[in-house]
Amino acid sequence: MEQMMKSIQIEGKVVELQEEFPVRFACMEHFDQELDEYVNDYEVAPDTYAAKAVEDETVDKRCRACGEPGQIVLLREKGL
Ligand SMILES: [Zn+2]
Repeated sequence: MEQMMKSIQIEGKVVELQEEFPVRFACMEHFDQELDEYVNDYEVAPDTYAAKAVEDETVDKRCRACGEPGQIVLLREKGL
């Protein structure tokens, strides 16, 4: 299931998101694969942050590929 969000809390700031693009997480092992899949699925390059910078407790931070704790978040910010 994709996580579609209007905004996300990162390092104390509310980051507005482009809602048509999902928020996905990847572990280090699957980061390259998830980056490729994001580009393939949505034809855009995602913005990335360290998963630990995401302060939203409601977000599922597991790696999309393997379910292990995610290290990197992939998303699309508004206005970039
Ligand atoms: Zn993984």
